[in-house]
Amino acid sequence: MEKNLRRIDPSSFSISANIPRANMPPSSEEAAIPMEETCPICKGAGYFCMDVPINDPNFGHLITCQCKLAEKEGRQRDKLWQQSNLQAFETKNFDTFNSHIVGVNESFARAKAFAQAPKGWLLLVGGYGCGKTHLAAAIANEAVRREYQTIFMVVPDLLDYLRSTFGPNSEVAYDERFDKIRSIQLLVLDDLGAESSTAWAREKLFQIINHRYNNHLPTVFTTNVDLDKLDPRIASRLLDVELCRQTVIQAKDYRQTTRNNNIRYK
Ligand SMILES: [Zn+2]
Repeated sequence: MEKNLRRIDPSSFSISANIPRANMPPSSEEAAIPMEETCPICKGAGYFCMDVPINDPNFGHLITCQCKLAEKEGRQRDKLWQQSNLQAFETKNFDTFNSHIVGVNESFARAKAFAQAPKGWLLLVGGYGCGKTHLAAAIANEAVRREYQTIFMVVPDLLDYLRSTFGPNSEVAYDERFDKIRSIQLLVLDDLGAESSTAWAREKLFQIINHRYNNHLPTVFTTNVDLDKLDPRIASRLLDVELCRQTVIQAKDYRQTTRNNNIRYK
């Protein structure tokens, strides 16, 4: 049905006059709206009828206008964006990443490929300031653009959240946000490390990661610590080469190098 609708070119037929609003002279308020804001196809109604003979199967059918579909799409994108938690990382995308710095090339290519069609796990390893957070945020931004349900979380913030939500005396048995993070289409966890948090919060973090491991849900991690410093249960899952690809960013200080007018890092 939808496919058929797309093939109809609304400009190829006239609009029948079943939309009373379209036939009325514009009120002064409407006249103040710039022309380009009123859809010429449906005159702002959002729907139109095809002008076809009475025996045509489409006779009398209301067609959803392109403008209405675009509006719906925009709303969905807004929702995806709100949910993504990327607001502070809005400008971190692949275009703003300096991929010419020595040592970032392979990771840049891997991150970009992953973002096209998130599948499995990707682990970005690198020292402080190597650009791994930028790459992780770029993946998330690109995924949102491609309409993947995505959540970007800095791990210490996530642990704070888990600690405040769950605890030995907590009566929270089910938490919607926890469930969302656990099962979202794409989860990006920035700065996985040797977290100092409560055992409870760490257990909840493990539950999130284990759920995603068991269900092969696309997940990106960044870390600047050796895997043997991590919770061994998390490390062993990250070392599963069937699921997880690891890429090491060699640039020692991406931010510094980028700031210094793209001086090559030695
Ligand atoms: Zn329209």
